[in-house]
Amino acid sequence: MPGISLIARQEIAMAGISPEEPSTIIQFTHTSNSQMYSILRRTAAKCSHISHVYSIGRSTEGRDLLVIEFTNNPGQHELLEPEIKLVGNMHGNEVLGRQLLIYLAQYLCSEYILGNHRIQSIINTTRIHILASMNPDGYEVAASEGHLLNGWTNGRTNAQNIDLNRNFPDLTTIYYRNRRSRHYRIDHIPIPDSYWSEKVAPETYAVMKWTRSLPFVQSASLHGGELVVTYPFDFSRHPLEERMFSPTPDERIFKQLARTYADAHATMSNNDTERCGAGFYRTRGILNGAQWYSFAGGMPDFNYLHTNCLEITVELGCDKFPSEVELYPEWKRNKEALLSFLESVHRGLKGKVTDPDGNGIKGATISVKGMRKDITTGEHILPCLFIVPCHAAVSWCISGISQTSGSVSPPQWTIKIPSSHRRGRLVMDGLTSNPTDALRGVSVAGAITLKSAVPK
Ligand SMILES: [Zn+2]
Repeated sequence: MPGISLIARQEIAMAGISPEEPSTIIQFTHTSNSQMYSILRRTAAKCSHISHVYSIGRSTEGRDLLVIEFTNNPGQHELLEPEIKLVGNMHGNEVLGRQLLIYLAQYLCSEYILGNHRIQSIINTTRIHILASMNPDGYEVAASEGHLLNGWTNGRTNAQNIDLNRNFPDLTTIYYRNRRSRHYRIDHIPIPDSYWSEKVAPETYAVMKWTRSLPFVQSASLHGGELVVTYPFDFSRHPLEERMFSPTPDERIFKQLARTYADAHATMSNNDTERCGAGFYRTRGILNGAQWYSFAGGMPDFNYLHTNCLEITVELGCDKFPSEVELYPEWKRNKEALLSFLESVHRGLKGKVTDPDGNGIKGATISVKGMRKDITTGEHILPCLFIVPCHAAVSWCISGISQTSGSVSPPQWTIKIPSSHRRGRLVMDGLTSNPTDALRGVSVAGAITLKSAVPK
């Protein structure tokens, strides 16, 4: 092991432009729970100007569910700054995602300090939350067996034997039941009372509370066992069909998000039919979840139907518990994908809904033509932020940067102002076609036309 990690360290060090230039040094080893907590805390302390750690709760056996956050003003939401989360190790025996997120945290901190412009741009414009292990109890079981002995399922569940990715409220069934009624809303579907009479794992509860408490717009849950990115719905639209294409009304948006990760990954989207993940080569490494296999109570469906957040599932590889030798190559395969995914959160349209005096209005809904799901302005934290994924009006977004020609028509918007306010207006603060532009702060304020404001 010392030999391997030394090689990894050397390779990282050599990756700098000149040999004299300092580089990030990461130990590419497996990380026990206590080592993980210590690395995350030390990283946050080293980068205290851009990072801090906080706990979202405890596991069944009392282990911390520790999140490390990166942004230029850690600990607070900033207006029009998108929030993104990365969750690893939901299945305790799928350890690669957990390791990659621990490396990512160290990489972000160190590269920021070293003056890496790309990393500085990402952190200065985004609020990133990383939960490296959602299931530290399950990890403990898997790690006691180790890479060679850990089977396909030992340590998958939490300590109560609950599969956390089946334990979220099943809002998808409610959606299927109601989708044909007129004016049925598909966003912010309430959690049914009956859910609470089932066994809710403390890990599920903590993540649910966390997901509701911050205005996340994008999320990735990292798993293992295959090499593919899947996206909602995970639950089949036909109860008897285990493998049925079951798109959300925002299929196009999800496909783009999935593509962002898969295309930036070293091998996920290539058409080599011998590789891990070859079963998905026809769709170049992305797939609707239910088309792969159907299950209810998953975290991505919950994110989509209960919040503004769009979550994808990343299956990182065929080996759920890779040997230590594989960790550095896996980091190299996934690093660009992780960074691209973080940057992609800026592809959306950002704006706020205000009253005529410029005060934010909470709970206003924004409907965009071409996007089925409404966006609700910043509940909980900030009363006015919203971010619409760009892909909703994709042609316009992409050409929006050069829309000075005037030949492109903007998307049609409707905002509904809550009855507590008499009037409101939509203020756009930025429009971008790609992350690079976003990070340069391109602004096309005023380009939006309001279809109608509906005062009550
Ligand atoms: Zn999994």
